[in-house]
Amino acid sequence: MNALPTIPSGQLLTDCASFIDAVSRELQQADPTYTAALLVLRLERTDRIGALLHEAGALAIGQQLLQRARSVLRDSDLLVAVDVDEYWIFLPRLRVAALATLAVNRLLGVLQAQFNNDANSTTIAPRIGIALAPLHGREPARLLRAADQAQLAARSANLTHALAGIGDNTLALRDARDAALRGVMSDNALTVAYQPKVDLRSGRVGSVEALVRWPLGVQPTMSATLIIETAERCGLLDAVTQHVLHTVLRERNGWRQQGIEMPVWVNLSVRLLSQPHLPQLLLQILQIWQTPPEAIGFEITESELARDLEQTAAALIALRAVGFHLSIDDFGTGYASMAYLRRFPISELKIDRMFVQDMTRSPHDHQIVSSIISLAHSFGLATVAEGAEELVTVEQLRALGCDFVQGYVFAEPMSAADLPGWLAHFNA
Ligand code: C2E
Ligand code: MG
Ligand code: MG
Repeated sequence: MNALPTIPSGQLLTDCASFIDAVSRELQQADPTYTAALLVLRLERTDRIGALLHEAGALAIGQQLLQRARSVLRDSDLLVAVDVDEYWIFLPRLRVAALATLAVNRLLGVLQAQFNNDANSTTIAPRIGIALAPLHGREPARLLRAADQAQLAARSANLTHALAGIGDNTLALRDARDAALRGVMSDNALTVAYQPKVDLRSGRVGSVEALVRWPLGVQPTMSATLIIETAERCGLLDAVTQHVLHTVLRERNGWRQQGIEMPVWVNLSVRLLSQPHLPQLLLQILQIWQTPPEAIGFEITESELARDLEQTAAALIALRAVGFHLSIDDFGTGYASMAYLRRFPISELKIDRMFVQDMTRSPHDHQIVSSIISLAHSFGLATVAEGAEELVTVEQLRALGCDFVQGYVFAEPMSAADLPGWLAHFNA
């Protein structure tokens, strides 16, 4: 007799409280040989899912995600959607702890495949933090905290998943980063790399973007994003920003001595905008290097803007009033509408590389890039496409009327010393 295959399926709970209750009940019965795992799963591209697919589309993807996750879980496993971008999963009664990693790999396997919705398809980047009971704790709250820390650690290290540290491994890593940044700052050792923005009409380099860089050979190494995150956490954001600006102005003067007049865009954290004397402080730094504010632009990330619209608008107006150019970075990943952006005295929008990178393969992304460009133009703003890696992308951007392109297709960020040589070669 053929038994019907049973389709394994985790139980879907409707709210976090019943999830926590169920986990708590289960853990109370645990004997000394018992092992269970609690997973915190976060999606990195929900910004995109929420902002780009209309709401119904995002919901449909959420449903597909739950279905897929359940299909690789056992009947006794529990699953709850905490938010559109966060899920908790409980794996009770594991024979050995290694089974948790196996389950995580199966989850990642089904979640990393494309999600389809009407004519569109989307890929998401799931990250999973794993905490084990009783190793990392016996109470749900403690396990959730440990799994969430692990998920954050996975994110910092650019891994798909990570096991919680025993004791406070992740905290130790943070302390090491904080200490390393303090050391590097007191040695004045942070450097800056420059990436050209190519003007598609003239085919020439119109300006460069300054990107902070960790000094070679200093451990633990950190990406630009991690440097800024660490600086924000340990109160060094002002110092890092000023150091970057001084470096930019000094190096820009070096280019001038070689006959190169190059406007530079510098990234500015929204957090700094709340300082009332920011424009004056920046102007003082510019005076030291005898640079007019018109030579410098500041890029502000769109997703950070929503924090306080009134204050941000006032700060940007003050920066523009003294002569700085302003740009909105990573446009398309947040929720800023054009109507909202009209209040900011900006001159350009930088389209996030998430859309640019796939636009030649994804009609959906192509459509987004096209809409951003025409919308920006209708508001009199220039557009910069970030992260173009292939010539076909540049051709499509040109056809869409995009003004500038910044990406590996032309150049990776380079040192100030390398720029003049690269420019001579490029312009030839
Ligand atoms: P961003 O301002 O959007 O900078 C663009 C990022 O995309 C840079 O990463 C650049 O190296 C990368 N990129 C450029 N072209 C391509 C490409 O064709 N393909 C790919 N895959 N990547 C490309 P980076 O240098 O790691 O910087 C990351 C972020 O860190 C920046 O994003 C910016 O938000 C922030 N950042 C960098 N320097 C500073 C700084 O001095 N101050 C502040 N507040 N933030 C900074
Ligand atoms: Mg930028
Ligand atoms: Mg950007």
